Amino acid sequence: MGSFFGTNIGVDLGTANTLISVDGKGIVLNEPSVIAKDTDRDVVLAVGQSAKDMLGKAPAHIRVVKPLEEGVISDFDMAADMLATFFKQMMGQRGKIKARVAIGVPSGVTEVEKRAVEEVVTNLGPKEVYILEEPMAAAIGAGMDVDGTTGCMIVDIGGGTTDIAVISLGGIVASESIKMAGDKFDDHIVRYMAKEHNLYIGERTAEELKMNIGTAYPREESITMECRGRDRVTGLPKTVEITSEEMMNALKEPLDAIVEAVHIVLEQTPPELAADISTSGITITGGGALLYGIDKRIQESIGIEVKIAEDPKECVAKGTGESLEEIEKLENNAMNKRKAYI
Ligand code: ADP
Ligand code: MG
Repeated sequence: MGSFFGTNIGVDLGTANTLISVDGKGIVLNEPSVIAKDTDRDVVLAVGQSAKDMLGKAPAHIRVVKPLEEGVISDFDMAADMLATFFKQMMGQRGKIKARVAIGVPSGVTEVEKRAVEEVVTNLGPKEVYILEEPMAAAIGAGMDVDGTTGCMIVDIGGGTTDIAVISLGGIVASESIKMAGDKFDDHIVRYMAKEHNLYIGERTAEELKMNIGTAYPREESITMECRGRDRVTGLPKTVEITSEEMMNALKEPLDAIVEAVHIVLEQTPPELAADISTSGITITGGGALLYGIDKRIQESIGIEVKIAEDPKECVAKGTGESLEEIEKLENNAMNKRKAYI
């Protein structure tokens, strides 16, 4: 692909998935945030989906890790190698970024980590690097009017964290980040299967159940799925048919926690902004927004309309890219003003 001259690049460094958007081209990379490294030879073997496929199956000298967990960078060196490899894949070996890059990082990331991420990307040669808070990026990518005087609320349900923010006049007024999101949904399904069906299942099977029959609000018609695992008593493989109603039970606790957190943020919101939100509604983004009925579940508990953003998994990547267009406009305006004075 070579170099991206004069383009803006937005990066969503998510706990579950990394996405890169290039202005004019849209999303050019969308891969799981996973890296596999040969620790004996210190070389990166794979990143993204091919690394994810190695999870739980690799021999001792190969480390397969998800370097971002629960909204923080748990393994910094691995995260840096992963990001650099993604960029190399996108640009070709000799490509250099000449553009501006904006990166959306999980809200739990510390200032020191933000600077370190900035450094990793700076080494790839872009003109400028910006770090953006994820909820802000998500809101921009969801097409919300973040600069307006009317307050709006965003709930981004990712893999590691759910980030809730009230935004007004281009800034975050109230926010909360809880470690209760897609990964915890999977954990609760694993536990439910062990408790109710004496069946051991892996995280991947749990995620499949969640995506296929996962339910946050009663469905008009019940659906089922065959689930394979290991019997807790006999130790042998076993298949059980699971219904969508069971998923609602399995997911009750994490869903309640998310609703509770939304409630808390609304309580912390100044009354006028809270009134805005009650009319403008709540927008949800992130992969978790795709869980069946999660919009209705939150809407019914909170009593405020909930909308799912278009392409909810792509909002952060799009939003980071779009934030750069704003910066460009500001700079152009400043330049025009300067010209006008000459
Ligand atoms: P992050 O920002 O942390 O990288 P994402 O926004 O990419 O996370 O969301 C990843 C989460 O969304 C995972 O837990 C995944 O299982 C979940 N997810 C993706 N698609 C669906 C779906 N159709 N139904 C329910 N959950 C989903
Ligand atoms: Mg995210």
